Amino acid sequence: MKTIIEPFRIKSVEPIRMTTREEREKYIEDAYYNLFTLHSDDVLIDLLTDSGTSSMSARQWGAMMQGDESYAGSPSFYRFKQAVDKLMPFKYLIPTHQGRAAESILFTIVADASHSIPNNTHFDTTRANVEAQGAAAIDLVIAEGRDPESNHPFKGNMDIEALEKFITTKGPENIPVCMLTVTNNSGGGQPVSMENIRQTREVCDRYGIPLFIDACRFAENAWFIKQREPGYSDVSVENIVREMFSYADGCTMSAKKDGLANSGGWLAMNNEDWAVECRNRLILTEGFPTYGGLTGRDLDAIAIGLEEVVQEDYLHYRIASTQYVARHIAEAGVPIMQPAGGHAVYIDANRFLPHIPPLQYPGQSLAVELYRHGGIRGCEIGTAMFGLQPDGTEIPARMDLVRLAIPRRTYTQSQMDYVVEVVQEVFEYRDSMRGMKFTRQPKALRHFTGRFGYVD
Ligand SMILES: *Cc1c(COP(=O)(O)O)cnc(C)c1O
Repeated sequence: MKTIIEPFRIKSVEPIRMTTREEREKYIEDAYYNLFTLHSDDVLIDLLTDSGTSSMSARQWGAMMQGDESYAGSPSFYRFKQAVDKLMPFKYLIPTHQGRAAESILFTIVADASHSIPNNTHFDTTRANVEAQGAAAIDLVIAEGRDPESNHPFKGNMDIEALEKFITTKGPENIPVCMLTVTNNSGGGQPVSMENIRQTREVCDRYGIPLFIDACRFAENAWFIKQREPGYSDVSVENIVREMFSYADGCTMSAKKDGLANSGGWLAMNNEDWAVECRNRLILTEGFPTYGGLTGRDLDAIAIGLEEVVQEDYLHYRIASTQYVARHIAEAGVPIMQPAGGHAVYIDANRFLPHIPPLQYPGQSLAVELYRHGGIRGCEIGTAMFGLQPDGTEIPARMDLVRLAIPRRTYTQSQMDYVVEVVQEVFEYRDSMRGMKFTRQPKALRHFTGRFGYVD
């Protein structure tokens, strides 16, 4: 088979700045060893997140010039609506400035303190928005989804039996909505099968519970279905997407992921009463219902992004490039989560640095080292992020991972080869790496603004 190439050429370039190890040593020390504190122009290859970091196409930039900034009834809104309806035909569509605004509006309207919301795995903003209403966010992913070494093709699947058991125990009247996140971001970008979406729908139907899809990476999920699920290899991605959403009563979306845009999101649903209340809330917090916190040009960029993200050449390249990085890192013996997900490669820092105990944040030590050695910025997802308990004690996270998230259409294959080399070189001198400690930490979300130092 021939090399899977980037299905685009580059018209406009954005220089990235080479730095020396000595310079990076100073930058990271000045940032108190917190990668969120770095200035991004001191980063060579930025794999902190795939959110809002996509490159837009010439067509998207062209469409932005046609954005119409009318306060109400802008044609940009109708172009956006047509693009969304083509893939996810829900009756009511509510634009928002990003995904978490859609979540906030939905849960403010449908959830209260007596409620529980099941999901395969709640993304952190989803969980926070559920909990902000006093409701419980329940994660019910299949057991294989929690095992970093399992090669199950759909590790994002909902545990159907556990879902039904949870509903009967809790009482369907206490579950206003069931969510399903595609792909499962917190679980490593792992896909959910069509069969599992259908089965989740059947369980919800039995108990009269609406099903909402957290749709952020719907196109990547559809591609995995096409590749891995029997019966779908000859179905177009667009038709797979339409079938996925045909089982749902609504969705929340961040256009910063599979919208191929730098900003934006939406909330969509079929329930008219909820839609009326959500729109009223939208006007209070985001803006008028035909722009919802976005500019007209943002809406046009999303409309074109949705056409481009389901193109099969694009998805073939996209998923192959993630798998390429994962395969080459793993071939050097570096422990990673298997199989690779859609948007990121996760290095298992506990196995990479077995001499550093979890409470000395092996993931943070590794993430800092990738920056120091090669100017690469990843993100610790482990004990520094999740270990602090509400009562102030600390327990190790279930896994200590370093996520290398891959922005869409942004880096070339040789840049990814460089990433692989840096990881391999750091792996070779891993025995000399040291554990870390917090020198200052806020009470919540400490990984964003906390300060680190090395243990002696
Ligand atoms: C990014 C993300 C969100 C939140 O979207 P924002 O645009 O960042 O507010 C919600 N769910 C999932 C699965 C995500 O990946």
